[in-house]
Amino acid sequence: MGQAFELKSHFQIESARFLPLLPEGHPCKSMHGHSFKIILTLRGPLDPKVGWVQDYHEINEVMRPLLSEIDHRVLNEVKGLENPTSELLAVWIYDRTKAKLPLLKSVTIMETPTTECTYPVN
Ligand SMILES: [Zn+2]
Repeated sequence: MGQAFELKSHFQIESARFLPLLPEGHPCKSMHGHSFKIILTLRGPLDPKVGWVQDYHEINEVMRPLLSEIDHRVLNEVKGLENPTSELLAVWIYDRTKAKLPLLKSVTIMETPTTECTYPVN
């Protein structure tokens, strides 16, 4: 019980994007859509007063305004996501949530069911 716990909160958005820096002919250079899965990983000790690490509801509240910026949008039109790779989307979310979620360890983006990008790792 003295060990840390790991929590994960999953979110999903439907968004369009194109990757402008890729060479002509690359399929991701054209506008296309993804059902992005976003996973926030938090690590911390148990709060003995409540018996949990953090309220999932608080995580949802931090994510709500961000999701409204990127869900059902063209990601390239969002400030800071002009080149919306999974890597840069993970950074974009991490930078906007870390101050409000001190236990946040990383943000994972799955742009397809078979790919996963996590930031940061060490
Ligand atoms: Zn894509």
